Amino acid sequence: MSIAEPPSPNWSENVLHVLENRPGLAEHLASRLIYCRYRISGFPDVAALLEANRREPPSAVIVELSAENGRWSAGEVLGALNRGAGAALPTIVVSDLPVLRTHLEAVQAGARGFLVKPIDAYEALECLERVMIQEAVSPYRVMIVDDDACATSMFTAVLRKGGMVTRAVNDPLLIMESLNEFQPDLLLLDIQMPGCNGIDLAVAIRQIPAFDSLPILYLSSMDGEAAQFAAMARAGDGFLSKKIKPAMMISAVAARAERMRILRQQFVRDPMTRLLNHTAFKERLVHEVARARRQGAALTLGLIDIDNFKRINDHYGHPVGDVVIKTLGHVLRQRFRRTDGIGRYGGEEFGLILPGTEVAMAKALVDDLRCDFARVPHRGIATEFAVTFSCGLAEYRSYPDAVQLVHAADVALYQAKRAGRNRVLIADEANRPIPV
Ligand code: GH3
Ligand code: MG
Ligand code: MG
Repeated sequence: MSIAEPPSPNWSENVLHVLENRPGLAEHLASRLIYCRYRISGFPDVAALLEANRREPPSAVIVELSAENGRWSAGEVLGALNRGAGAALPTIVVSDLPVLRTHLEAVQAGARGFLVKPIDAYEALECLERVMIQEAVSPYRVMIVDDDACATSMFTAVLRKGGMVTRAVNDPLLIMESLNEFQPDLLLLDIQMPGCNGIDLAVAIRQIPAFDSLPILYLSSMDGEAAQFAAMARAGDGFLSKKIKPAMMISAVAARAERMRILRQQFVRDPMTRLLNHTAFKERLVHEVARARRQGAALTLGLIDIDNFKRINDHYGHPVGDVVIKTLGHVLRQRFRRTDGIGRYGGEEFGLILPGTEVAMAKALVDDLRCDFARVPHRGIATEFAVTFSCGLAEYRSYPDAVQLVHAADVALYQAKRAGRNRVLIADEANRPIPV
């Protein structure tokens, strides 16, 4: 099949600069990631890279290190890059050098990611997404529970200075409403409070399934290792002294909140595509429907199903089928906004939640995507092959709750299949179920 055409011009592009030890890496990535929103250019030396960065600041940089042609070190390049940029640029080091030692050097130089050659383009894309998401991470949410209002306002001020969003609770018996409403990434808990022991409170919180993995740090003036170990044997993840220096407090809290974010991602993501899993997708839909209702805003749900996928599995084998699923997952992630909900709804089915999007606009977007995806070459045993998908769309205004929306989109998807596949259909208002 013919080589794919470049992406539609309406994509928002990320600029990626690659410092190449020898020509090839940028071109390889560009040819494999043609449907992703990256404009990729390669540069033969550090001076050319810096000059290009000055002309157009990139979203990320890849630095290639090589044993046979080691023309620069990670430290040298990252040092020059960051001096030139003013602020740290998300940088990934790609190397075929002895792994851990080189990896450690890259970490020391400030690299955000590390890949071992030969690199897989999709692995590189995942790494890029990770480092760029680190850039756009939303502030950590920290709740501080202490009966002493002076203490909470002091710690709140410290954490806010560290870029975090905080909520202070001075009456420990009122913590539950705040936990539910604020959904913290981490809880800082005083131990001695009138009418309530912080350690008992930590045990009680851990017994509530929704909060059983919430990191809890005691913020206490309680000294003595034995007492601290005894407390942590019951509940809690660590102690911070109330006398802690502000900078140390910020870094201790941020490090734990970050781990929590990573763990939480694993609960809600499908491991194969890293899209929302079925449960998380459904929860997100309920949440977005409630928001659309409150704000009187538009919302469209799309259900996508790969066409004749069983035949692909039968003909090329299950592992090739898996790569097709991953590819569609990547394309969806690249194509939609961070605020859209994209999920793996089932085996070869995907879901799209598009807040603020009318159904006609959603149809145009998904149709565009459908045409582009149909042109993606997939690698079979000896040949390349093409894959299509069908999609059913339903709009919140016509089907005003999550169950009706899913049902309507599913019926539209079924109709798209019946009508010959490789098409996007909007749920037919005439078939609208009577609201219950
Ligand atoms: P249609 O166009 O009507 O959707 O036909 P289809 O063949 O795609 O639909 P069908 O539902 O009959 O087959 C879906 C297949 O997807 C069956 C199942 O074995 C396969 N499948 C589900 N999950 C995975 C997966 O994770 N990996 C692979 N390789 N196959 C999967
Ligand atoms: Mg199916
Ligand atoms: Mg299918």
